[in-house]
Amino acid sequence: MRIAVIDKSKCIAPKECPYLCRQACPVVRAGNQDCIKIGEDEKPIISEDLCIGCGICIKKCPAECIKIINLPEELRTQALHRYTENGFKLFRAIVPMFGQVVGVLGANGIGKTTAISILAGLEYPNLGEPGTKPPEKQIINFFKGTEAQSYFEKLFKKEIKLAYKPQYVDAIPKQYKGTVRALLESVDEKGKMEDVTEKLQISGILDRDVSQVSGGELQRTAIAAAMLKDANVFFFDEPSSYLDIKQRLNVSKMISGMNNDETSVNVIEHDLIVLDYISDLTHIMYGTPGAYGVVAHPMSTRNGINTFLGGYIRDENIRFREYPLKFEIKQAAKDVKRIKLAGWPLMEKNLGDFKIRIDPGEVSANEVVGVLGENGTGKTTFAKILAGELKPDKGKIDAKLKISYKPQYIKPESELTVQETLMKITDDYGTDSYRIDIMKPLLLDSLLKKKVNELSGGELQRVAIAVALSREADIYLLDEPSAYLDVEQRLSIAKTVRDIVKKKKASAIVIDHDLLFLDYLSDRLLIFKGIPSKVGETYGPTSMRDGMNSFLKEVEITMRRDGQTNRPRINKLDSVKDREQKQKGEYYYAGL
Ligand code: SF4
Ligand code: SF4
Repeated sequence: MRIAVIDKSKCIAPKECPYLCRQACPVVRAGNQDCIKIGEDEKPIISEDLCIGCGICIKKCPAECIKIINLPEELRTQALHRYTENGFKLFRAIVPMFGQVVGVLGANGIGKTTAISILAGLEYPNLGEPGTKPPEKQIINFFKGTEAQSYFEKLFKKEIKLAYKPQYVDAIPKQYKGTVRALLESVDEKGKMEDVTEKLQISGILDRDVSQVSGGELQRTAIAAAMLKDANVFFFDEPSSYLDIKQRLNVSKMISGMNNDETSVNVIEHDLIVLDYISDLTHIMYGTPGAYGVVAHPMSTRNGINTFLGGYIRDENIRFREYPLKFEIKQAAKDVKRIKLAGWPLMEKNLGDFKIRIDPGEVSANEVVGVLGENGTGKTTFAKILAGELKPDKGKIDAKLKISYKPQYIKPESELTVQETLMKITDDYGTDSYRIDIMKPLLLDSLLKKKVNELSGGELQRVAIAVALSREADIYLLDEPSAYLDVEQRLSIAKTVRDIVKKKKASAIVIDHDLLFLDYLSDRLLIFKGIPSKVGETYGPTSMRDGMNSFLKEVEITMRRDGQTNRPRINKLDSVKDREQKQKGEYYYAGL
């Protein structure tokens, strides 16, 4: 079967395009005018039944807004929803299960929000026929014999009460005016506000206006709001964004603790360590962002994440990535020959009530140093000092050191297009190697004509990383590059940073909270410790094992490697492995 998708927001007809797609279509030219018709909105409509899939219209379209995609025949009867003709199409449903935490894993734009809206009863599924409303009986028949059948029966009988933690918590202050306390009191159907806010460590901000709290505080407020609802189906859409690793683990424990036979807990998450820790089962969603999404059948979370990393779903014979993502077991630091590239002396800085001491350290050529620590312990201050944006009170950075810096918060102020921005930064733009090393892995092709100040959070992040990696430098310094990115993009960027560092014989220092991303990327670690917002100090750079051991001990978590993919996994608290590793003082990867 075949789908034709037109991004009408990009189509420039009729003003700037005389329907070039229609003029060139061989089926239309052969006399069948209905293959591409003009709709009432003056945009083209492609008939999926008449289209022969030649792809000529794709090449002719000046706005690059047409996609013609061949799909496996069995999906023909599995379409769950389509908003408009030639619009995004969703196949199959996420299946919430009572007594199980279900995780959802997939790229942005693959239909996760549509899938949830349907489960919440906010969107009525049209079984792929826009403008129709199939009777409830037909929907239940569609799911006959599956877990989803009983879910939709309950939904139609109004036995489902859903609580949803939205993805974009930044939008909350625009929708709600008032204090955190007033917001939470208005949704506290369980009368547990005090308990939940204390566990989420937001009791101290209850009387602050929602417009005055940080991203991490807003995230925990939104999580609390969902938890306080007297619901039986919960959806948490990206609960780890803006949270540091300690907060992520705390939230993970709280979410998985909500699970019982009368409750269904569902989590969409891009941090694979968090997803692995929280969920029992996982749905992978694959497809083409913005065009179609397929919900794969649920697997055990271990199998789901390993399958995702492998890029191939065996049961469905679907390859969604050309290469598998592999995790290496890093050699002990003493076994690796290092050529010192750059270093920093002992440095100190006071910023109001906050004080940081940075011990001397160095980085080597071909090396990526990951930086890990709680929020408020000085990681960004260190980055700013290294980048020359802040002057230390004690110590000095070598002025000859070339540092290319991507800050944590990126201001999208430029009126230039992405293409103009990249051309300004590097003469390599347009070369084959630039295309392979930067453009392709950072998915920049579709952004080139967009203005920088019109990009979304994830698009801006990719462009900012591209800009940083395009400069000539000794050290590439990236502060929270995984923010706003989906899991596929995170791992692709991790691979890109490693490849660039190797190719340029440079070094990278990467600050992030996604442990799996850092594990994949880093050769060594620099750990930040202290009391958040009061005092910070560094430990390292040191080996992965030593650094992780030091960090994980503080957060009382142990980790092991997955036998199949070598990816890091968190041991269940108080499990045999957890206790054994803690006893040996091996918090990171027992047996190394
Ligand atoms: S892909 Fe289909 S719609 Fe496009 S030109 Fe070919 S036949 Fe016509
Ligand atoms: S060629 Fe592209 S821009 Fe022109 S009408 Fe067709 S879809 Fe729209």
